[in-house]
Amino acid sequence: MEKAELIFVPWPLMGHLAQQVELAKLLINRDKKFTITVLISRLPASLDPITNKLIDSLVASSTTEALQFFQLPPTDPTPEWSSLSRGYFIQKQLDSQKPHVKKFIQQRQTDESSSSKLVGVVVDMFSTSMIDVADEFGIPSYVFFTSSAAFLGLMLHFQSLQDEYNQDVSEFSNSKTSLSFPGFANPIPPSVLPIVLVDKPLWIHRFLLCARGCRKAKGILINTFTELEPYAVDSFNLSESSPEILPVGPILNRVQYISRDVQSGIMEWLDGQPPGSVIYISFGSLGSLQIDQVKELANGLERSGYRFLWCLRRPPPKNTIVDFPSEYENYRDVLPEGFLDRIANIGKVVGWVPQLAVLSHAAVGGFISHCGWNSTLESIWCGVPLATWPLEFEQQLNAFQLVVELELSVEITLDYSSMDKNQALVRAEQIETGIRKVMESDSEVRKKVKEFSDKSRRSMKQGGSSHESLGSLISKMLHNS
Ligand code: UDP
Repeated sequence: MEKAELIFVPWPLMGHLAQQVELAKLLINRDKKFTITVLISRLPASLDPITNKLIDSLVASSTTEALQFFQLPPTDPTPEWSSLSRGYFIQKQLDSQKPHVKKFIQQRQTDESSSSKLVGVVVDMFSTSMIDVADEFGIPSYVFFTSSAAFLGLMLHFQSLQDEYNQDVSEFSNSKTSLSFPGFANPIPPSVLPIVLVDKPLWIHRFLLCARGCRKAKGILINTFTELEPYAVDSFNLSESSPEILPVGPILNRVQYISRDVQSGIMEWLDGQPPGSVIYISFGSLGSLQIDQVKELANGLERSGYRFLWCLRRPPPKNTIVDFPSEYENYRDVLPEGFLDRIANIGKVVGWVPQLAVLSHAAVGGFISHCGWNSTLESIWCGVPLATWPLEFEQQLNAFQLVVELELSVEITLDYSSMDKNQALVRAEQIETGIRKVMESDSEVRKKVKEFSDKSRRSMKQGGSSHESLGSLISKMLHNS
């Protein structure tokens, strides 16, 4: 049997990498002809220790004959890389790997002893600069898009306004009224438009390039499922030569990379809590709150009286551009006086948790979330309703989609922005109200999330929508060969 080889180029961050490896495993399980090599470019461990641990664990636990990892050589950052944003730094690091990726593909293509044929390159939504490398060899490229279909639609729409109609899309954020865009049933308030589309430097140097890159691919695999976003999935206005849109999710982060002790401490604590009684709080792999806001959240939790599991992480130092949150040495330094003693019987404050395992635990009844797309999919998968508290990127748009478009979440805030220097605090009362609503045991939102949990699981099974999309992708990949 001639093997069909795929090369994957993921984005080396938590919300992208594990999911792309999971996609690789799905493809391999669906067709034994596939062999996949994942090209890994690591950030320095001093910047992002968590993703580095994830990479170590992936390489150790997932490597098989069909799935291989190739670590690209470390590169030396130039001062310019650190000049704009964390994403820009990673973009530059990845771009600097182009010659190595080219060499890797060249070797594969000229290896006469190999019985496999290179049938595609699968790049992350932010690794689209690698499409040019694949094009040089005439190899089809596919993009793995780790946010919603609605966000992809909006980004492509903005790119077309900019490139075809020379429109300054940043102007949308000054609108006095809500705006209608394809992919959304409701008009969008300007305050929830993703900063990455309306902030000029972020748009021009990152997301405009990402949108242009996506258009060059043969297909865009979105980590979503049609039943969740039918309106957005149907709204793509693409021409014959445009990439095919394939909803293939939810593809979740299932890798185990946390020490057994930490994991069992958290899971044993959850085991001791009644079903549906705990609210889980996390702002993802990149989010954190300033001290004043931490105190309001602590007060809101205490006022609500609910049990809670809180991932509390230290914000990066001010004025750091390539910024990642880190762990606190002592939570007492930032929490209100006496808080940890008062809540000792009902709450647990931790750093990093195995999120999918936490959300799957019967004790967890609600989730205060920054609405990162992976956290959104994981909560839907587990049937746990969200209370929305976005921080950055496209998270405000996700919150709007979850609360207004889909009615799958409760609002704490839709337009909080950690990037806005004048951002007002979310007060304890507002947090308490959100917690009470999301923890209601028989609310419409909870019923709907349970319904979508079933739909999400069905979509991945034989005959399900995402299962079918992946099947159609596989036959195209193999047919191309
Ligand atoms: N995550 C985790 N433990 C944590 C926080 C986050 O395992 O304590 C995982 C989470 O399960 C998800 C990813 O990190 O898969 C975060 O992705 P998301 O898109 O939600 O947000 P981002 O971190 O990209 O902002």
